[in-house]
Amino acid sequence: MVAGANMVWLIPASAESLFQYGPVLMAVAGFFALLPDIEAQHAKIHSVRVAGARVFDNTIVRSVVNHRGPVHSILAIIIVGVLTVWLCRRYALPDELAWAATLGYASHPLIDGFNFPGVQYLYPWKRRLHLVPKFLRFRVKSLPDELLFVAGVFGVLMYGFVYIIR
Ligand SMILES: [Zn+2]
Repeated sequence: MVAGANMVWLIPASAESLFQYGPVLMAVAGFFALLPDIEAQHAKIHSVRVAGARVFDNTIVRSVVNHRGPVHSILAIIIVGVLTVWLCRRYALPDELAWAATLGYASHPLIDGFNFPGVQYLYPWKRRLHLVPKFLRFRVKSLPDELLFVAGVFGVLMYGFVYIIR
């Protein structure tokens, strides 16, 4: 999620409009970075509770798709891109929102590609692929994973800092 929020650095927009909607874009990117794991059983998104009830109960979705499958694929990223651009145009929202959502969403399978299980990027081809050779892969919650998290938090803080002083 923090990595997703950092995707706002990559949005092709003028610095001015980027900072105009800054916090919103970051929240959107961060939220969309969580979405792909709606299919995963123990992912963070399922601990999101409102008034004691789980917001994202996924028992039905989970039984249909396996984790790191379809919703982690390039196809899914394209669908999210098309849908969010369409929504932004339809409701006259800034395109930057669609960028934030899509980049945030894409950051998730990107990071999963560095972990051991691999990701079905080319779904419907079922093969699980990795982005790095075996010796560079790391486990979820291992040191590189934590470092990535720290770097992500740092990025978000940097953004906040620039946002305040500009
Ligand atoms: Zn995942």
